[in-house]
Amino acid sequence: MSGSGPDALRDRIARIDGASYKRYREIRGTWTFRDFTLHMDYVQGDPYAMPTPVRLEVPAGTIRLPEEAWRTNARRLGCATWLAARFARAAARVRGHGSGRSGEVRMEDAGQKVMPRTSVMVGPDGELEARFTVGLPGRGRRVAGAAAAELLLDTVPGLVRRTLTVEDDAQWDVLAAAEANEDAEALRAFIEHEGLIAFVADGARLPRASGVSDVPLEGDRVVPFRSPPELRITAHLPNAGRIDGMGLRPGVTLIVGGGFHGKSTLLRALEAGVYDHVPGDGRERVVTRRDAVKIRAEDGRAVTGVDISAFIDRLPLERDTKRFTTPNASGATSQAASIVEALEAGACVLLVDEDTSATNFMTRDRRMQELVPRSGEPITPFVDRVREMHERHGVSTVLVVGGAGDYLDVADTVIRMDAYRPEDVTSVAREVAARHPTGRRSEAEGTWTPPGPRRLRPHSIDPSLGRRDVYVRVPDARTLRVGEDTIDLGAVEQLAARAQIRAIGLALAHIARADEAELQLPQALRRMEALLESEGLDGLDPSRPGDLAAFRRFELAAALNRLRSLGLADDGAGEGST
Ligand code: ADP
Ligand code: MG
Repeated sequence: MSGSGPDALRDRIARIDGASYKRYREIRGTWTFRDFTLHMDYVQGDPYAMPTPVRLEVPAGTIRLPEEAWRTNARRLGCATWLAARFARAAARVRGHGSGRSGEVRMEDAGQKVMPRTSVMVGPDGELEARFTVGLPGRGRRVAGAAAAELLLDTVPGLVRRTLTVEDDAQWDVLAAAEANEDAEALRAFIEHEGLIAFVADGARLPRASGVSDVPLEGDRVVPFRSPPELRITAHLPNAGRIDGMGLRPGVTLIVGGGFHGKSTLLRALEAGVYDHVPGDGRERVVTRRDAVKIRAEDGRAVTGVDISAFIDRLPLERDTKRFTTPNASGATSQAASIVEALEAGACVLLVDEDTSATNFMTRDRRMQELVPRSGEPITPFVDRVREMHERHGVSTVLVVGGAGDYLDVADTVIRMDAYRPEDVTSVAREVAARHPTGRRSEAEGTWTPPGPRRLRPHSIDPSLGRRDVYVRVPDARTLRVGEDTIDLGAVEQLAARAQIRAIGLALAHIARADEAELQLPQALRRMEALLESEGLDGLDPSRPGDLAAFRRFELAAALNRLRSLGLADDGAGEGST
């Protein structure tokens, strides 16, 4: 371990040039450059191993952010995301040479969403910390000294100069990013104050480049959003001033329309609206309450001890649905479980798309009701609970329906998408519903009281693997490995970054270390929120990695709920699949 300036670092590298790769250990420590301080607390063991994490402390004088860019928390966050994207892009162009990952520089991709991340953090006085990894250069398994000197004494300082120092003509851009984020936060406060569940600004551009991309669809065929006059409201933002857009009220909202007319695109924008977006994304002024949760069918998922009896009871062979456990849920049971779990975690808005729902969970028409009497059908369809959820429990639903007209009877607001243009057709829908009664009877029996919280056994989570106490890996954007468990998060659609998944993995390891033998699940979620509040993401991992991002309690709950080894207090025997 050592200290001192770039000349000392150069000497140190020269001393180990050509030596065994292990001797990179001798450059660990803190190095003070003219414009920043570099920390290397740990170095990789060989050129093929996980690359070496680096932390840079960059003082305000180097960055030269305008003061207005870091005045508030929301501004700092917008600013940090802008800087992280700039650094990550430039770093990706750095070409290393030599064995393994020699010479690579990598910062976690910031993407389209603004959220607290450990890759770049702007502090209260305009200073910042940047975290990324470098591949220390090797020739075979020897230190490649000249390349190492180039990387640490030339490439990295060059990246700082070019991307973390805000030159004069970039001052406006960074300020715009800061202000846009302040506006987004103000808009979110506005909808909460007005009692709305979401807001979509006129002019917003909702479609994405492709089904697997979060970047905007470009070109003149994109139809900008325009609120129906009946739903239009005005907001005043601190920077942008007056804006108009569609305000969604609590209750049951349907999004109807022909296939390919933009229904799912609008719903997905609402799902994404729980996060803020970078300028140019098209969804900067689309905000949804933070406690809105996408619900979908996910057959094959595991369910542990969830009371789904409000939706499903009297299963064949008298399987208990008050504590429903299965390693392999069906479409309908998985969707029911996801709703109950979301409510347990505190969701107040459910977002549902017919495209990704189980048909038999959504409704049962009159003919089916007659052919298969209630006594032979375990499912109480969602259509028979959705109003009750709003009226008795304050839970709103936004639902995309193309086919299930039964929902017209239970809607407060009906929006029709017509060639990507929304219209308010609520009164027409009422007339249609009156003219064509469905003739179906509600299948809900009795009123529904949401079940109490489950008690989990924290020690049933085992994050260890081999000699490691905590093994957390994110092999791809839908999979979390914790210890020996593999959790499939592919259907948890509001997860927005791999860095979130990694942070959630560490959070599970944290919960596993609880003192108590039993813990209410919502309490475990609250505890993690409190930890993040007081210590930030570094509270999850004292080694201060650069690849973590903040997550919501709902996505943490989703990972916990899909953990196949999750144990509950007084766990009944596991019951086969449905
Ligand atoms: P639906 O759910 O009604 O069948 P989608 O939302 O899947 O329709 O949209 C169908 C296609 O139209 C998608 O390829 C989507 O990217 C595109 N699209 C959606 N909204 C717009 C828009 N405002 N302008 C241009 N294209 C759009
Ligand atoms: Mg669709």
